[in-house]
Amino acid sequence: MRHYLFRISLCVLAIVFFALPTPAATTWRGVHVMAWGSAGGDEGLPVLKRAIDEVLVPLGVNVLIYEVGYNFAFDSHPDMRFEKMITKDAARDLTRFCKERGIRLIPQFNCLGHQSWVNGDMVFPLMTVHPEFEEVPDLPEDKRAKTLMNWCPLHPEVYLLIFDLIDEIAQTFEADAFHVGMDEILTFASPKCPRCADKNPADLMAHAVKELHGHIVGKRGLTMLMWGDRLLDKKALNMGDGWEASDKDTAAAIDMIPKDIIICDWHYSPQEAYPSIDLFVEKGFRVWPASWKNEQAGLHMVERARTDTTGQILGYLGTSWVVHAGHFAQALLGEGDPEILKDRAAPAATTLKACMEALARP
Ligand SMILES: [Zn+2]
Repeated sequence: MRHYLFRISLCVLAIVFFALPTPAATTWRGVHVMAWGSAGGDEGLPVLKRAIDEVLVPLGVNVLIYEVGYNFAFDSHPDMRFEKMITKDAARDLTRFCKERGIRLIPQFNCLGHQSWVNGDMVFPLMTVHPEFEEVPDLPEDKRAKTLMNWCPLHPEVYLLIFDLIDEIAQTFEADAFHVGMDEILTFASPKCPRCADKNPADLMAHAVKELHGHIVGKRGLTMLMWGDRLLDKKALNMGDGWEASDKDTAAAIDMIPKDIIICDWHYSPQEAYPSIDLFVEKGFRVWPASWKNEQAGLHMVERARTDTTGQILGYLGTSWVVHAGHFAQALLGEGDPEILKDRAAPAATTLKACMEALARP
């Protein structure tokens, strides 16, 4: 009888144990900020550092995704410097500052896509210095000007230049991980491209991911992160309008790329469920759910991370999408001009605080 009861107790314990959530070993409490833009450069850093000290550290933030892009004082290719740059001294200073506070700084450089900004009002140096690298969309000129530019995934020379830029950023920020962006890429297999015409967009997407992975992970030994939207099928998942999930036939790339890439799965509007998170988990990736300025959406993702039983959902990543990192920092600190901050910075700051507090609850 005793044996029998003992066995039942063991079974109950086992059931309770396996039913409990299995959080990732260390919860990733992340913030994404942009270092680039018309008012970027070093000048936004003092207020960002104050926001880190006074707001982000108390909230338990332990990862900073720092979108550097072309706003960096490149020595390997000075012609790739854009507008107001982050100097190397400032980059090293921010790295040290974050390290001292237990924050892992992961730099980001947008690869393949986002070589220009919305409405074509900001074109980055790769496309202006090397127009031959562009995957030229098959669109009339007026529409082309408003489409985000991307490089040709099969251009034989583009990666050598990009690897130099990635190496320089990664070394300066002493990075052990690198975010390659790869979101919102709109032009694949253009009939105007002699290399890509008639190719399968998913193959092209996978090719670009593998090229980057071969360098960043294979050669440099860093962890690679990327946005997940081009790996999702908009129709199959019934998600979004072509941005947060792809309508460019790229989704099959999900089965062609290395599983050690961390997928940042971003969705900004409240939805009943985010099936993409489960899809990435099922495919064997580690997923880092990301949201922006809608509290309901962010909290939903936090809850999904908190109830994870796989250990593959890392935590929560709050984005800001404020070109001037200083403005987001002001919103976090409760400072600045409310008129300027009301559309993006303020609601993003409120959402981030709510999500980090929810993530910290036992
Ligand atoms: Zn091409």
